[in-house]
Amino acid sequence: MPTLFRKSKEIRNYVRLQKCENGRSIGLVPTMGYLHDGHRELIRQSKIQNDLTIVSIYVNPLQFGKDEDFGRYPRDLERDILVCEEEGVDAVFAPSDEEMYPESPVVNIHMEGLSDILEGKFRPGHFNGVCVVVLKLLNIVQPDRAYFGEKDYQQLKVVQRLVKDLSLPVEIVPVRTVRDTDGLAFSSRNTYLSPEERESALSLYKSFLLAEKFIKSGNTQADLIKEVIRDFILRHPHVRKIDYVEITDEDLRPVQEVREGDRILLAVWVGNTRLIDNWRIGNANL
Ligand code: AMP
Repeated sequence: MPTLFRKSKEIRNYVRLQKCENGRSIGLVPTMGYLHDGHRELIRQSKIQNDLTIVSIYVNPLQFGKDEDFGRYPRDLERDILVCEEEGVDAVFAPSDEEMYPESPVVNIHMEGLSDILEGKFRPGHFNGVCVVVLKLLNIVQPDRAYFGEKDYQQLKVVQRLVKDLSLPVEIVPVRTVRDTDGLAFSSRNTYLSPEERESALSLYKSFLLAEKFIKSGNTQADLIKEVIRDFILRHPHVRKIDYVEITDEDLRPVQEVREGDRILLAVWVGNTRLIDNWRIGNANL
């Protein structure tokens, strides 16, 4: 069983002891819980690269807009601890809101040109919330490495830049997106989907494959590819709207002509569920 910590002070003492007295390296996997195979992959990477792996489980209110799904976000700590046990996690840090935010934070982290594009445009304040919680978790746990999924590609980029700009003593390790056998990227929010909606949600993944084919047949104009993706996704029932389809280089700068290594990023509403996904161009052997 992993050791469960509820208090910052306690996990900090635990880590200090492990690092200083026992010389152990520490990997941190920050999550909002309701663990799935994507989280498991992060944990596995951490287990390979570190002596000890800590999973944090905290649904961070600060990164949700006031009309978003904070209230209904799935939570099941008991099950999450079992998953962590199965994966051989050493410790779980699951703080309360009072522990994380005894007072509403007044600090505001704006990442120029990074936190106000794509997701940030549609979720104002989201990346401030992400940056604040990630900084707090890194400061509390002080891991050697922290693991972030490419599933949330912009978040990964924001965190990498935060660490670089502020010289934080941690290595950010990106982890590939894990997909279900049918291609749907694992997400805790998939639990919101009805079976019919889930079927339509597959259009996100399928649109990436379609785009790959389109590109391979010589169409490299980003605007055209975006249009093909939009049209394809919108043809599916239950797809309510598309927030964005963008194609950027690996640093999230928009491109006109696509090249291998560029990213397709999208956010789509299927019923009342907002799904995000992204794809590295050149990833499929079609
Ligand atoms: P979350 O619990 O949704 O905040 O996710 C916690 C971490 O797991 C983040 O770094 C996510 O990018 C990562 N993650 C979520 N879903 C996946 C997935 N399908 N594949 C890989 N990583 C993921």
